Amino acid sequence: MDDRLIALAEESWRGVYKDEIPDGYIPGLGRDYPHPKKAHLYKGDLSDPGKPMCKRGWNRDSGQSYSIWRGNFGRDGLCETCLKRAKQGLDGVESEPPVDNELRGA
Ligand SMILES: [Zn+2]
Repeated sequence: MDDRLIALAEESWRGVYKDEIPDGYIPGLGRDYPHPKKAHLYKGDLSDPGKPMCKRGWNRDSGQSYSIWRGNFGRDGLCETCLKRAKQGLDGVESEPPVDNELRGA
């Protein structure tokens, strides 16, 4: 990760939610425009965010992948679902399975 991104990440960590996030989870803000208002939590670290703590954290390819700004919060902070699940020490959620073209008859 380049220095500018690390600086951005450290800036975000100073947000009001920093102390609420259990160890082992990082916030990630979807790379969408306009920016999502809330970031989701991912079970991992800045080099490997792992899986999101709620389905909305999978924001690409109909829920099969994601593209996020690691370590960043949304203007309205964090997704409550993600925070609640992280506080319970739960694992991230699976992505949607790829669509099976044979079953669709394509
Ligand atoms: Zn979430």
